[in-house]
Amino acid sequence: MGLGSFTRQKRNTSSQLPTVAANGGGRYSAGRVVPRGRQIQKTFNNIKITVLCGFVTILVLRGTIGVGNLGSSEADAVNQNIIEETNRILAEIRSDSDPADPNEPQEPDLNPNVTYTLGPRIEDWDTSRKKWLESNSEFPNYVNGKPRILLLTGSPPNPCDNPIGDHYLLKALKNKIDYCRIHGIEIVYNMAHLDKELAGYWAKLPMIRRLMLSHPEVEWIWWMDSDALFTDMVFEIPLSKYGNHNMVIHGYPDLLFDQKSWIALNTGSFLFRNCQWSLDLLGAWAPMGPKGPIRDEAGKILTANLKGRPAFEADDQSALIYLLISRKNEWMDKVFVENSYYLHGYWAGLVDRYEEMLEKYHPGLGDERWPFVTHFVGCKPCGSYGDYPVERCLRSMERAFNFADNQVLNLYGFSHRGLLSPKIRRIRNETITPLQYLDQFDIRHHKASSKP
Ligand code: UDP
Ligand code: MN
Repeated sequence: MGLGSFTRQKRNTSSQLPTVAANGGGRYSAGRVVPRGRQIQKTFNNIKITVLCGFVTILVLRGTIGVGNLGSSEADAVNQNIIEETNRILAEIRSDSDPADPNEPQEPDLNPNVTYTLGPRIEDWDTSRKKWLESNSEFPNYVNGKPRILLLTGSPPNPCDNPIGDHYLLKALKNKIDYCRIHGIEIVYNMAHLDKELAGYWAKLPMIRRLMLSHPEVEWIWWMDSDALFTDMVFEIPLSKYGNHNMVIHGYPDLLFDQKSWIALNTGSFLFRNCQWSLDLLGAWAPMGPKGPIRDEAGKILTANLKGRPAFEADDQSALIYLLISRKNEWMDKVFVENSYYLHGYWAGLVDRYEEMLEKYHPGLGDERWPFVTHFVGCKPCGSYGDYPVERCLRSMERAFNFADNQVLNLYGFSHRGLLSPKIRRIRNETITPLQYLDQFDIRHHKASSKP
């Protein structure tokens, strides 16, 4: 399992994450109204970026068509200026220095005596959703006999501390888009903090709730962390197994109930059925989330009660574990704790075994032989304070990405030159009858023949 050696010092604290200014209701819709003050600020930012681009273009033109003759020291000075200007603009975006908009209603400070809620209490979601589905038959929750799934992922609103972090966010998103495209799953990428109290790793809660309510046609919402990659492009979640359950999460029941371990479950990849029960669970899960004194105090309770948990503010994973342990009778009958395949797989035990997997096994297995999801817990490629050396994390992420990407590129007759190489090579000759071989190379068809 590789869990015994797992000591995570600290999950990124919200104070290292940028915060967004308070926002009114109706926050998550395509036609979101941007407050006027902020609009002006944005326009101003855009103009600055345009001027910068123009400046760069002129420089490039001068260099290529030889207008003027900059000496090399002069060119260095100009380069230096560009770097400084770019850094200044980046710093400005990161600092989130939007002036407060006087027209925007102020959100009241949280009252610690009142339990925090994700939104108005909804009591009859199952009935209203059922009615909605009946009167909107063009949006069925089952398509071709399969429940409609929406994969939700996201990352902080601002640039990463280091540009390489943004590069890996992009790769991780490409990896998810590929998996979703191959399996007909819809995908949402969210970068907004829908609720400023739940910034950081808690941000998934309001997002999941919002999507359930905005997409009654979706049967399952699947949350996946930005630092989790699909590494088996063939495996599919056996949803028919979960007919009597509303939440599916990777974990180990003995670690949960016997050991009360803080890593008994992993909240990097889990599914919720779109139903009243899930809204209620989200409601029961959220109260430890509000940043500041509430999150800090709740962290002490979690550390006191969960085995192996270091002292730090409340995180979503520990809070869920604590909730399920302390109110087991109320919740557990609808929670499926899955470990027959890696809905979440801890990266450290997996990424060095890819060569062995390639030699012995094939995609479609999803377990330790060919892990479905590889999750880079504790790596923090977008932040500054991971628990592992950055080089080890980046190297491992690159290997996992290419291991998965090979399964996609194979469809098109290509492969990476190596698991650490972004370069590719051709693995099949072009043919004048491409359709003849199509099924043979389509990983979707391998599933039927990939019995363990
Ligand atoms: N996240 C987000 N917005 C934020 C911060 C985090 O959507 O402002 C998401 C992101 O997908 C990230 C996840 O929350 O992967 C959980 O955090 P992280 O992966 O850093 O925690 P770990 O898995 O290492 O405990
Ligand atoms: Mn993660």
